[in-house]
Amino acid sequence: MSKRRRTYIYHLAILLGLGYAFSALGGCSHVKNSAVDAVVASSYRPPVIPTTAVPKPALQLLAGDLHCHISPPDFPPHVVRGVEETIKLANQEGLDFVVLTPHVWARFFQTEELRQRTLNGEAFLHQELARFPKGRTKFIVGMEYTDGEYGHISVSFGDLPKVLAGLSLEDSVAHPERFFERYVETGGMLVVNHPFTTPTNFFFSITKEDLSWRPFTGTGPFPAEIQAVSRLVHGFEAFNVTNTELRDRFLKLDRELSIRKTLEQMDREILSNHRPLFAAGGSDSHGHTLRATTFVLSKANTVPAIREAFAKGRVCIRSPQACSLQVRIPNQKEWQILGSSIPNAEAVEVRAQGNRVTLFNNGVSLGRADAGKIVTVPIPHKQCSVIRAKVDGGYSSAIYVNCGF
Ligand SMILES: [Zn+2]
Ligand SMILES: [Zn+2]
Repeated sequence: MSKRRRTYIYHLAILLGLGYAFSALGGCSHVKNSAVDAVVASSYRPPVIPTTAVPKPALQLLAGDLHCHISPPDFPPHVVRGVEETIKLANQEGLDFVVLTPHVWARFFQTEELRQRTLNGEAFLHQELARFPKGRTKFIVGMEYTDGEYGHISVSFGDLPKVLAGLSLEDSVAHPERFFERYVETGGMLVVNHPFTTPTNFFFSITKEDLSWRPFTGTGPFPAEIQAVSRLVHGFEAFNVTNTELRDRFLKLDRELSIRKTLEQMDREILSNHRPLFAAGGSDSHGHTLRATTFVLSKANTVPAIREAFAKGRVCIRSPQACSLQVRIPNQKEWQILGSSIPNAEAVEVRAQGNRVTLFNNGVSLGRADAGKIVTVPIPHKQCSVIRAKVDGGYSSAIYVNCGF
């Protein structure tokens, strides 16, 4: 038996033991959290950003996390970490930005009470954040819109008080889609979280829940607000630490299963819906562990610049080196970076920096390449081509060739 296989079986045995313990404890969230934390604490930690990962000197590569729970507004003991500890952990992990995503209920905007609770939660976080020196980390107060029937959506960078003030209760009942439409109009960003986290039969009660995005894993019809999110969504959470470390690594024995599956689905969505999408990463931490999961190529270390980097798709996940991907028309001087759109190409040259580079076109592997080696990719019939890279355990968002956006 290989050493790798033995290690897996060893870890699996520990987890099964923990699973029995949880079953016996009958869903004690606090204990469950500690055990999940123990697993997540051993999770992959990306390297400090190497200079070779930055493709243009005018840009800086910032490390962050797009999915982080916090209590309050999240309920204890479901979430055990408050603002002070979050700031401390974020600094320890070298995070430049963290999007705080406390759970909110589906259609919370349809009742005055839930609207008020959500606004109070947001105001509380702003007040708390103002009380402590934040160090290097910038915090963006968002939320995780949690619909048990259809899926979970990270909602951030928009102006929630303005959206709710401009949307009457009656209007939001008759047209629930308007909440997401207005939120995006205020500069908001929507990311569908853990889209393929379907239930498993293992002992952990959390892995028995269906947390997937039902427009991908279920059958319609879907309500108007879910259809609106499908139409407006900016990114999909391909890398979710809890999902990767618990479900994929130990229960499915393939740590990168959901990452690959989500990216493949995103490529299909990009091609069929003719619009760009970025790959997002989230620790989804409810406990005492944070990680850098998402990296952006940003023009400045400010919240508006970080938001702009997401809007332009200059994003990579899990490890920073995949942000080095570059594409150009053969022999042209200028290399294009993540999120770029290259028109009218019959072939492109592609390169990335790192030790283990694999390049992809529309989900199909173009094989391994050495660091910085230029690979020429023919584009028959000038078809829309979504170019990505996997480098040193990290995955890039796309560069688009002939896609018209
Ligand atoms: Zn979720
Ligand atoms: Zn979450």
